[in-house]
Amino acid sequence: MYVSDKIKELPPYLFSRFQKRKEELREQGIDVIDLGIGAPDLPTPKFIIDKLCEEVQNPINHKYSPYDGSREFREAVAYFYKDHYGVELDPETEILAVIGTKEGIANLIHAVINPGDTVLIPDPGYPVYKTAVHLAGGKSTYLPLDAQNDYVPKFNELSDPEKKASKLMFLNYPSNPTAATIELDTLVEAITFARSNQIAVVHDAAYDLVTFDGYKAPSILQVPHAKELAVEFGSLSKSFNMTGWRIGYVVGNKELIKALHTYKSNIDTSQFLAIQKAAAHALRSDLSHVKKHSEIFKTRMERMYQGLQELGFEVEKPRGSIFIWPKIPKGFTSAEFAERLLEEVGIIVTPGTAFGPSGEGYIRLSLSVQVERIDEVIRRMKEFNCKGVVPS
Ligand SMILES: *Cc1c(COP(=O)(O)O)cnc(C)c1O
Repeated sequence: MYVSDKIKELPPYLFSRFQKRKEELREQGIDVIDLGIGAPDLPTPKFIIDKLCEEVQNPINHKYSPYDGSREFREAVAYFYKDHYGVELDPETEILAVIGTKEGIANLIHAVINPGDTVLIPDPGYPVYKTAVHLAGGKSTYLPLDAQNDYVPKFNELSDPEKKASKLMFLNYPSNPTAATIELDTLVEAITFARSNQIAVVHDAAYDLVTFDGYKAPSILQVPHAKELAVEFGSLSKSFNMTGWRIGYVVGNKELIKALHTYKSNIDTSQFLAIQKAAAHALRSDLSHVKKHSEIFKTRMERMYQGLQELGFEVEKPRGSIFIWPKIPKGFTSAEFAERLLEEVGIIVTPGTAFGPSGEGYIRLSLSVQVERIDEVIRRMKEFNCKGVVPS
């Protein structure tokens, strides 16, 4: 009676059943390894914590923040974009602080679309895009991504009515869940497509700094004309291990940023100033801590990749993100495979279908466990293999 149709219509949270089962198995004394985690397990670097402690003491930071974030934070984002990507940004009009990008993404959709409008979302993709479009009264159209096409959307395969109806498009590289990465030309193609069809573009760059082997993820704002219709979300969560701090930013097109600013100023009053100042300090750092953390994830990724390959899985070697995305053996659905891994060898993975229908046939493994645990995962999967499941 007290619940809106929009809330009732939301799909049940897919991970909760696995989490409940995990607790049950752990109570039975079973050592469950959870590779379902979507966040880094490492602590926030000390220099950021120290800065927070200092800023917390200053009464100037105890007041409300400006709605669009402190000048200091926005200037630090501008510094980071200039230094890292060579992109100039105006801190007054082209940068807005968000209380984590999840919030920013969901509220941006409300600020941009009208009920009934269509939003193009990657499939498989971060589940928030679809649910947030639903909550804003919009309709999602999937941009199917597949391994054959390196998880790059085939824009030209969209029908004319689909192109015409679409108001907004989401992209996400390095990708959650597929770990796919791209070069700038893919973003050039996306902007060309969006300009000719008058579609606003949102690039979710949550893993922009979590990259391996010298690969540098491009920013969509490096594409000429991108600022005419695109924004990019960035977050301190994954690159600086600050998921709980809730701080990120959106940069790019003035009109989209202003719309989000107006919407948010009626809902929240930005993040705690001390957190914004600690985050600004992180963005102005030499990023050596980020590189160190990426090295740790790379070591884990290599170990997991090699183990999976030896077991006979079809899998691409990631150049970024904190995930790996193997194809599962034939004869299983993703959900069945995930279920059996948990029940038979105590490993939690996320079925690919949690990220959209094109995730069928895949599972997502998080690299947020130590190398020894990854070795244990591979050992257990071998055991699983002996039961004739995984072809080798
Ligand atoms: C983790 C994640 C986010 C959310 O990050 P926060 O800034 O912590 O809200 C957004 N997009 C993707 C793809 C993610 O994986």
